[in-house]
Amino acid sequence: NFAERSEEQVSGAKVIAQALKTQDVEYVFGIVGIPVTEIAIAAQQLGIKYIGMRNEQAACYAASAIGYLTGRPGVCLVVSGPGLIHALGGMANANMNCWPLLVIGGSPERNQETMGAFQEFPQAVRSSIYGRPGACYVDIPADFVNLQVNVSSIKHVERCMSPPISMAETSAVCTAASVIKNAKQPLLIIGKGAAYAHAEESIQKLVEQYKLPFLPTPMGKGVVPDNHPYCVGAARSRALQFADVIVLFGARLNWILHFGLPPRYQPDVKFIQVDICAEELGNNVKPAVTLLGDINAVTKQELASKKSLPMNYYTVFYHVQEQLPRDCFVVSEGANTMDIGRTVIQNYLPRHRLDAGTFGTMGVGLGFAIAAAMVAKDRSPGQRVICVEGDSAFGFSGMEVETICRYNLPIILLVVNNNGIYQGFDTDTWKEMLKFQDAASVVPPMCLLPNSHYEQVMTAFGGKGYFVQTPEELQKSLRQSLADTAKPSLINIMIEPQATRKTQDFHWLTRSNM
Ligand code: ADP
Ligand code: MG
Repeated sequence: NFAERSEEQVSGAKVIAQALKTQDVEYVFGIVGIPVTEIAIAAQQLGIKYIGMRNEQAACYAASAIGYLTGRPGVCLVVSGPGLIHALGGMANANMNCWPLLVIGGSPERNQETMGAFQEFPQAVRSSIYGRPGACYVDIPADFVNLQVNVSSIKHVERCMSPPISMAETSAVCTAASVIKNAKQPLLIIGKGAAYAHAEESIQKLVEQYKLPFLPTPMGKGVVPDNHPYCVGAARSRALQFADVIVLFGARLNWILHFGLPPRYQPDVKFIQVDICAEELGNNVKPAVTLLGDINAVTKQELASKKSLPMNYYTVFYHVQEQLPRDCFVVSEGANTMDIGRTVIQNYLPRHRLDAGTFGTMGVGLGFAIAAAMVAKDRSPGQRVICVEGDSAFGFSGMEVETICRYNLPIILLVVNNNGIYQGFDTDTWKEMLKFQDAASVVPPMCLLPNSHYEQVMTAFGGKGYFVQTPEELQKSLRQSLADTAKPSLINIMIEPQATRKTQDFHWLTRSNM
């Protein structure tokens, strides 16, 4: 009978217990008293385990460790006043450890004021496990516990979702990869943040792929087994002292790690910090690279950046930007090449960037580069012109390379080659496509001949030409081109033929404009 059911009464304690159950709380530690006893009983009735302890402090320590071990907050149930005061030690400890914890205290009855009901629960759960995990306190007035309410008047709130996963900025991921690669004595420090993030599989892969010696902090132990050949736990002091690059995975540069300062570390050691808490980045030392995000996700990003061959636009421009002289002219044209290049390659001086411009013209690049080089030659000798061209864009005025060589202009041409306009095909797809049919019938209009050696246009006229496929080759050829002031050069950079820009974050903006 509906009318009867809607009259059915339930106690506040039961509602609280049900809310805990909904949040996947499995364990409650505490010491009961007025008014929280009923909550403990109600919790047990719903299958939640209640462990009565002898002091709230120990109960709170226990509940916080549940949070670390399971990723969902453990609950510490205490009475108001001294109960809560005793729990403070455990709450502070959980906060310092960055472990989720829910402390529920019973306070005296409310007089007049009303609370925001049990909605407080998921909010508390959320703030305990989202961002940097930590302790949360929910205060429940005594009359709430014993209140009888109509079942039908209870508003059920859903289980709080697991924390969203955040990733680090792409350019920082590339920088980190290159700093690690160029390190002479790299060291990975694995902290309890890495353990909490369940990053064991990805970190072990990273250790092995980069051949990185690692040092676990006390609670970072076991993320990669202590008996792993790259574990340097036994030589801790030495490892800290002689590392030139240190990657921190969920470990803070606090007293446990001697604040990251000399004499325990090299004065010029480069720190790469990975943490989910922005405020932690740059604490005590100025890091070389900061990666803000979830450790597991960031580690996977690093793994992907290592093996991403062929290169994509971001990898290319990151390595170009790294070496560009601040005062150089940047000339650019192409579709993705120009668009993406613009976001990564920096200008520091006015009137030092020339590109396809208002009219979006392809074919202007080499002419612009020649003009800039003439001005540079006459007004500030030594200044360089970097001309970043898509492979299609380069084709529009490629023969001006002869002009560049004839006047021996200080131009470095970078052809970012994806075998096409916007996108092209790799050699295999190309061959497959042409097996039985005529090119004009089957080749998509945006495709250009794959693997074209545009650098030979430069060598044909006596300049330097480079054909590059890896970040290392790109770095090296660019370094040589910049050092060689006697000759112009062209670096033909092969990238993933299907590489595109990152998907736009703001579809809704462009749509509403249509
Ligand atoms: P240890 O004592 O092992 O050195 P710390 O407690 O000093 O570890 O550092 C742990 C760090 O891990 C904290 O700065 C915390 O913000 C961070 N952290 C916790 N969870 C994550 C996560 N999922 N992703 C990234 N960092 C995290
Ligand atoms: Mg630490």
